[in-house]
Amino acid sequence: MSSAQEVPVHGDDLSESSLGPATMSTEEPQDRWVDLQFGWAGKTFHLRIAETDRVYDLKTSIRDLTTVPIERQKILGLVKGKLPPDQACIADLRLGSAKKFSLIGTPQGDEIKDPSQLENLPDVINDLDVDFTENLAAVNRYRHDHRNIRKIREMTENLQVNIITPLRPGKKLLVLDIDYTIVDTKPLTSGSLPPDECARPYLHEFLTALYPYYDVCIWSQTSWIWLETKLVELGMVGANRNYQISFVLDKKCMFTIFSEREGKPWSHHVKALQIIWNHFPQFNASNTVHIDDLSRNFALNPKEGIKISAYKNAHTAEARADRELVKLTRYLLHVANVEDFRTLKHKEWKSVVGRLPPPA
Ligand SMILES: [Mg+2]
Repeated sequence: MSSAQEVPVHGDDLSESSLGPATMSTEEPQDRWVDLQFGWAGKTFHLRIAETDRVYDLKTSIRDLTTVPIERQKILGLVKGKLPPDQACIADLRLGSAKKFSLIGTPQGDEIKDPSQLENLPDVINDLDVDFTENLAAVNRYRHDHRNIRKIREMTENLQVNIITPLRPGKKLLVLDIDYTIVDTKPLTSGSLPPDECARPYLHEFLTALYPYYDVCIWSQTSWIWLETKLVELGMVGANRNYQISFVLDKKCMFTIFSEREGKPWSHHVKALQIIWNHFPQFNASNTVHIDDLSRNFALNPKEGIKISAYKNAHTAEARADRELVKLTRYLLHVANVEDFRTLKHKEWKSVVGRLPPPA
């Protein structure tokens, strides 16, 4: 097959055949592992890394062992010359028998209270986004990347889902992001606005209307303690509502993938729905939808994703006039009884809503 046949020209071709099944391959290839030893601060450390891992994964393991942040690590003697960039494969380092190296770097101090807040702060990073439905050939590559398959297995094994409200038979699954999807995070975390005024307009109406059809999972790239605080402050948990949250996933269930943006290497976190599906086999691509303000979070499941506009500047009249959740309610009610979501093109959700008869 020529590459021209493999690559859909644009996002219109969202048929199953163009992307392969949304379910990840269960055949996990055998990885070759490399044992490494390094010295830092007068001590010797040991770690194992798979050949399909990236340089970034090596640095992450070093950070976990030493608390030296990735950007402060100087790795000496592992390879001749300069260490290749983060996205380089460990296999390509040809580590051979020289598996000892030295680390120089200052460990993490107490100065940063919540690292996830740091990740959330720079808007400029959040504004970098890519619509992966425009490049399904690339999505196929990410899905079949041995490292990504292994990461999904590891995350699945490590995850203990804490069920808040039991899942109900026959419901679809709504996976919902928090930051800038249902709340303006900045004034919420700084306390500059009351939580009610940080919430996106019609948040509770949205969840109440959809609850008869969908179980709700909240998935946020933040740490558990902040996640819980946000849900309580927003009155989504622990308040008397006509909807319930079924379970919550935090950033521990996300991992970094190495993709491309405008032809350049790019790495970012991803929410792989397969991790949920492995835990709850009643859910799959036919009945799961994922709402997020960042398309890159859908990189492994672009067809299950609905990107909505980021909700920011909650203090302004413009933000208070935001009706994104009203429109999304109409769409998700419209498709609630569709047997198989794979027959839909969620990407066109706004034009579908535009064609619906006006609400009574
Ligand atoms: Mg977000």
